Amino acid sequence: MTSSQLPRRLPVAVPPARHEIVASYLARLAALNGLDGDELWRQATRPRPASSRRAPDPWLLSALTGQPPGHLAGALLELRDPPPAWETFRHHPQIGCPRCDARHRGGPVFRLFPHHRYVCARHRYWIGPPDISHPGPFLDGFPAILAAQRRHLRLVRRHGWAAAYDAVLTGFMVCGHLWENGFGAAFHPDSTLAGLLHKRSLWDMRSSVFIPPGTEQQTFSASNLFAAVYPEAIDIAAILSSPTWRKLAAGDHDQLSRFTQQIGPRIGVDGYQPRDNRDPMAHWIEQDCWRAPSQPPATFASAPGHRRPGHLAKAVTKASRDRHDNSAWWFSRNRRPGNVILHHRTVHPVVTREWSTPKDDYSGAIWQAQRTEQRFKPRSPKRQAES
Ligand SMILES: [Zn+2]
Repeated sequence: MTSSQLPRRLPVAVPPARHEIVASYLARLAALNGLDGDELWRQATRPRPASSRRAPDPWLLSALTGQPPGHLAGALLELRDPPPAWETFRHHPQIGCPRCDARHRGGPVFRLFPHHRYVCARHRYWIGPPDISHPGPFLDGFPAILAAQRRHLRLVRRHGWAAAYDAVLTGFMVCGHLWENGFGAAFHPDSTLAGLLHKRSLWDMRSSVFIPPGTEQQTFSASNLFAAVYPEAIDIAAILSSPTWRKLAAGDHDQLSRFTQQIGPRIGVDGYQPRDNRDPMAHWIEQDCWRAPSQPPATFASAPGHRRPGHLAKAVTKASRDRHDNSAWWFSRNRRPGNVILHHRTVHPVVTREWSTPKDDYSGAIWQAQRTEQRFKPRSPKRQAES
């Protein structure tokens, strides 16, 4: 390549943020230099062989910014060769911690976070699952949420990202069910639900700080409700991600009762015994614990959109803004946080698994995810008489 083919260096050239997407970086460079983002995109990309798409090129981007290609590829995942393990990252770019982003000029910074990143430990801000470009709450005064992020990282180290990904989402889903429905009627006579009442009052307290009643139209964010249950979701995930506990859950009566003694307090039921209905844990024991973890539904590399700065400007579409406003309105009317968690796309992969019984709609799938088919069905009087 001759130097005449390289684009001229921009007058204002700032470095990219860690794991920022190229479209976000170019949008910031364009804003700082008074240029059109998509024109900059054409200068920084080349046609991809056998594809209609263009791909960012480290050398072109390096000529534009004066940053060495190696440095750029360190920060920008899309420039890496070989490509990163895309499945370990969320496929939706999102806004991160406001303090981390404050030192990057030129506009919002959209990054790809790994699935296990929920908190900026350094500045104590909630990052959470992707939401509508809403900075998460400041977590001073919530040490349990900060500690949960550290415990989450330990799960990833111990059991691998895939087991941790599935277990943490399952933990969120179970908390969503418990917050929304409790367990309904009383359990086994020897069991007590005091633990669950305590958990639910904790979640109500945290969520009323993150989304104060009466301010829902301004402060509502589904991501903040995930923050409210994060420590308890990790309590559950610590058991669900462990191969040893999964084996016991799938085992015979004695092995299962060792599992239920361990999981019971984590779902708020001392003396927990699985049952056939309104029990998402029983569903997991029957249907999921003996199978491989569910995988993320998409990767950034395979998902459409977010490629050009122009796409990014439209990332918050009118439809998603309307959906958000609608959710905020409903939440201000009925405050059903568990329901919001259960309906959020983050938990879809564990509500509707590959082997789930197909349902006509998503609400049906949520209902299905707290029922069992055989293992915990009450035995009929005839069968009891036979045994
Ligand atoms: Zn930060």
